[in-house]
Amino acid sequence: MPERLETQSRRLLRRLRDTLAEPGKGQERLNRITELIAESMHTDVCSIYLFRDPETLELCATRGLKSDAVHQTRLRLGEGLVGRVARGSKPVNTADAPGERGFRYMPETGEEVFSSFLGVPIQRLGERLGVLAVQSRAKRLYSEDEVYALEVVAMVLAEMTELGAFVGDDATLAQPHKNPVMIRGGSGQEGTAEGQVWLHEPRVVVTNLVNDDPEAEVERLRAAVGQLRVTVNDLLTLASPTDREQREVLEAYRMFAHSRGWSRRMEQSIESGLSAEAAVEKEQSEARSRLQLVPDPYLRDRLHDLDDLSNRLLRILTGQGSETGAAMPERPILVARNIGPGELLEYGPRLRGVVLEEGSIGSHAAVVARALSIPLIVHASRITTEALNGDPIIVDGDEGVVHLRPDDSVAAAFRDKIAMQTQAQARYAALRDRPAVARCGTRVSLMMNAGIMADLPSLGGSGAEGVGLFRTELQFLLRNTMPRRSDLAALYARVMAAADGRPVVFRTLDIGSDKVMPYMKRPDEPNPAMGWRALRVGLDKTGVMRMQLQALIRAAQGRPLSVMFPLVSEMAEFSAARDMLLREVEREAHLGHPLPEKLEIGAMIETPSLAFAPDAFFQMADFVSIGGNDLKQFFYAADRENELVRRRYDTLSFSFLTLIEQIVQRCAEAGTALSFCGEDAGKPLEALAFTAVGLRSLSMRPASIGPVKELISRSDIGEVQALLKAAQRRGEERLRPIVLDYVRQLKPL
Ligand code: PEP
Ligand code: MG
Repeated sequence: MPERLETQSRRLLRRLRDTLAEPGKGQERLNRITELIAESMHTDVCSIYLFRDPETLELCATRGLKSDAVHQTRLRLGEGLVGRVARGSKPVNTADAPGERGFRYMPETGEEVFSSFLGVPIQRLGERLGVLAVQSRAKRLYSEDEVYALEVVAMVLAEMTELGAFVGDDATLAQPHKNPVMIRGGSGQEGTAEGQVWLHEPRVVVTNLVNDDPEAEVERLRAAVGQLRVTVNDLLTLASPTDREQREVLEAYRMFAHSRGWSRRMEQSIESGLSAEAAVEKEQSEARSRLQLVPDPYLRDRLHDLDDLSNRLLRILTGQGSETGAAMPERPILVARNIGPGELLEYGPRLRGVVLEEGSIGSHAAVVARALSIPLIVHASRITTEALNGDPIIVDGDEGVVHLRPDDSVAAAFRDKIAMQTQAQARYAALRDRPAVARCGTRVSLMMNAGIMADLPSLGGSGAEGVGLFRTELQFLLRNTMPRRSDLAALYARVMAAADGRPVVFRTLDIGSDKVMPYMKRPDEPNPAMGWRALRVGLDKTGVMRMQLQALIRAAQGRPLSVMFPLVSEMAEFSAARDMLLREVEREAHLGHPLPEKLEIGAMIETPSLAFAPDAFFQMADFVSIGGNDLKQFFYAADRENELVRRRYDTLSFSFLTLIEQIVQRCAEAGTALSFCGEDAGKPLEALAFTAVGLRSLSMRPASIGPVKELISRSDIGEVQALLKAAQRRGEERLRPIVLDYVRQLKPL
């Protein structure tokens, strides 16, 4: 290439690459880099600041400032011009640094003689690593080209940091992807696990950062963008015409893929010396740092789209696909931004745990994680940026905490916890074949909740007396097309066969809210949890519910059948649903199919209104099951999916327990069987209190049966009842301390 075509930054990048290829310690390299940059850019100063911790930047190398200040000068995020660059994740360029807002004079650096300042963030895929700054005596504003050149250099530095080039032997330097990281998220499923990170969509590894032939590199980028456009168009053709959300995302992809600005910026980076991959990453990095600053959820989504699109482009360029060829570790803990239930099921029981950057407690993935009995953490912010394939990781699903690359003390404490849990498991196993009987003789029937075939083996292992809630929606959610009646009938029959004579309560389709079937048109609702969902859909669009009821009757093949309707808000709804089922039974009889030996029709109490329904409702229902998850969210008007409020109100409070007591009483008066199948049934203190207010059947996750059975067996229900009654009479609102004090003084079994 003719010399005149070589831009300043291209030359600099090459020299940088050569310097970094030479052997040397971390600090020496850093010093050499600052020299090189200052020289090439004709500036008096070049300094590199790196994060020591998320709040503190440290001067790690300089050419031009006093060398004594290295590893001494520290700035808080946002402090001084360097801190401002880091906080805003964007350049600061000024001819008059001392006159600039937020300037902070650091006497130990000797910087008072320098007027102009240009600082750019060193970041990799939105992860802040530090700041690269140049300063000059002359009062001048750096040109746009110089700003761009410094950004490109910072991009390469960020990659070098990633590769450990900065880190060397010097322990005082930040060690991205090496230090232990603790992330607090939300608990999607309890349990603990220790293993190694397995990234669901591993980051594409870019190794060539600098190009030798910009023209060829631009061609390569253009070809890849062309291929990307074709892929996006194909996706759009395949997308369901009715799925507005999916189309919106794909339209955004198409818009970005055709964006001239995006392509132009990447080509400019290539002209400045970056490889095509590094140019894509530079854009991606900037989009990610913008993402962190954008409060508007719509815009955040769009930036996420751009991020996904950049990943696709990187895969095309590197040919890495989503398969990087890495072998799955022995004890894989899946780390992903989000994952669909089908994908999670495909990994199956090989996984020890799941950590999601987004996700939600009620998501389908969470339901599958529960079925697989593996701990799940949701809302683990930045986990996909922090974690690398194979990193040691500890998942504490009880506390909602992830320890990435834990240090020895954390790992040891954690192993103690696991050992204690193992001992507890052995105690529960010893109780497995015994019924849950309290010291006073009160017997409680403990059932399990299920939703997929994979749950059924737990029936024997957990000691459950049956399935108190079989959530049928998963079969509908895990597929791309509506299941056929014959498929459903076959599945329900297999579930009944696996239960081997133990009762199974099938809950009819509970879709809507967060449970969206990919192939069914979804109305745009302002508040889906209180919208057109569950039985409301079944009664308005009867086709699917009738098909499901027919499948259930056929699956029974003469065995007893229990059907329960979700989210019943008034007696008339229950009565209509019940009539529909009875009509289907008649129709099946007419067709000559065998009828269930016994048919029980029940309702879930998930809205406070149903607790106050007329007596006739309780008389009409063969059984009632309290869906505590929904009942509590509607009772307290606190969204069960919203981390800000979902733990705000306690189940063991005067109001909620009084409501449960009233339901118990109404069922007793009408002679209606009653159970509780929300998550709270599986929490030992809650289960004890429910028993004390009169519940005799609880349905929970299989893993909860042992702990609940153990506590009930150690307790005297009459004593708990008396304590609760006395506290209620005193008008105490918070009843948890009463139950907790009682449990603390109990003797072991
Ligand atoms: C409930 O609401 O308590 C319940 C068991 O149903 P789901 O969690 O499936 O909404
Ligand atoms: Mg519910």
